[in-house]
Amino acid sequence: MSNLFVANWKMNMVRPQARAYAQELASEIGDGVEGAELVVAPPFTALDAARDPRERWSIAGQNVSEHAAGAFTGEVSAMMLADAGCRYAIVGHSERRTLFGEDRQMLARKLARCREALVLPIYCVGETKAERDRGLTTAVLAAQVETLADDPPNDPLVVAYEPVWAIGTGLAATPADAASAAACLRALLFSRSHVRILYGGSVNSGNAAELLVAGGVDGFLVGGASLDATTFAAIARAR
Ligand code: PEP
Repeated sequence: MSNLFVANWKMNMVRPQARAYAQELASEIGDGVEGAELVVAPPFTALDAARDPRERWSIAGQNVSEHAAGAFTGEVSAMMLADAGCRYAIVGHSERRTLFGEDRQMLARKLARCREALVLPIYCVGETKAERDRGLTTAVLAAQVETLADDPPNDPLVVAYEPVWAIGTGLAATPADAASAAACLRALLFSRSHVRILYGGSVNSGNAAELLVAGGVDGFLVGGASLDATTFAAIARAR
């Protein structure tokens, strides 16, 4: 299976910027990056503008509703994401957990909605600095993985290990930290047939190669550094 590189634009980029980014990414990667699957997760409003007509990258929702349809003003369903061409949806990003109060039950419902719509979830996990300092990383990951209890074990799954203290701080985990979390997640998810473990948290073109190789992960979820198409392409080429 190829490595996976996901660009999480967060709440950035209007459509002209998204179109310019798509053009730049296309010229950077040519016919694609060998051994790498690229995904761009723009805001909902720019999904169409960020799409690649040649499908060298797919598009993803940054979030998805826990509901299937109905009177939920402002929500976007998994079916709508699928209809808009999304292959993936990010579920449980730490910003959603902490800023929007998304809890375990809600995230389990979001995962279920993704499965119904055949949208592949990129499920984010990771400990806070306080939890890490108290030696709770493994316990936190185990609790967060429990949310997957009802997720079909034979469906492909992407889990992104994103230590909260590394997101947007410029302070990436060490390759050893990433490797130890990845090993822990692989052990927790041993009964699943297709799991890819990503690392996320201050990945850039300078630290990507070492994190990928020594970190033992199957790719990255990239925030800030993914806003530049050239940098995102360089990260996807990291070996
Ligand atoms: C993220 O938002 O998922 C992320 C990893 O952000 P950054 O790369 O900016 O730390």
